[in-house]
Amino acid sequence: MEIFKGQNIIDFGKVFPDDASCQAYLAQLKWKDGFTCTKCGHTSGCEKSGHKYHCYRCNHVESATAGTLFHRVRFGLRKAFHIVFEMVNSSKGMSSIQIALRYGIRQPTAWTFMHKVRKAMESSQNYPMTELVHVDEFVVGGMEEGKQGRSYNTQKIKAVVAVELSKKSQVKRVYIKAIDDYSSKSLTPIFEHHISQSAKVITDKWKGYAPLTKQYKIEQIPSNKGKNFTQLHIIIHQN
Ligand SMILES: [Zn+2]
Repeated sequence: MEIFKGQNIIDFGKVFPDDASCQAYLAQLKWKDGFTCTKCGHTSGCEKSGHKYHCYRCNHVESATAGTLFHRVRFGLRKAFHIVFEMVNSSKGMSSIQIALRYGIRQPTAWTFMHKVRKAMESSQNYPMTELVHVDEFVVGGMEEGKQGRSYNTQKIKAVVAVELSKKSQVKRVYIKAIDDYSSKSLTPIFEHHISQSAKVITDKWKGYAPLTKQYKIEQIPSNKGKNFTQLHIIIHQN
């Protein structure tokens, strides 16, 4: 099973039609690299029905939801998955009253669960990117040079983008930050907030990155009009 991507709630409902499919999904994420007992660290055990794992050494039985924000949710995993989906995809933010009405649960129950989800979303933002990271600067908005007669949005915003790629060059995470200029001082915060010092970072040859090479593993390559940063440029143009 693949990680669900996209914002289509009908598709989401098809992938997660019941509690069991949600449980299977969590089990697959949790044990994709094999089982490790959370009580004793042993790595051999057997999978039991209901997506649980039984440790051969200490007999601990671990559920797919243990250690996740879905543990012991009282209203079922299917509703919990849908609430998370709505929270992640709604730009305005949902109130616990709205969620309680939509899912037929009590408002305090909705509030408690949504609070956990928000905490988890914050911590995933604080979790730095560790693999291959491409970083580039760009300008959003404004008129392109040579195009006359377009007076909309003359204010240009400078930004820096960091994209984490998997070994198969798939985009894992993206962070974008508006910056005042392209100085080292302005480029530093995205590194400090989102990139681990163990990550392999690739940038173009801009000198603003040079001071950062003391702390980060940065390889500077010619940008070659974007050809060396394909994924990055696809993302920039979508924004
Ligand atoms: Zn164990």
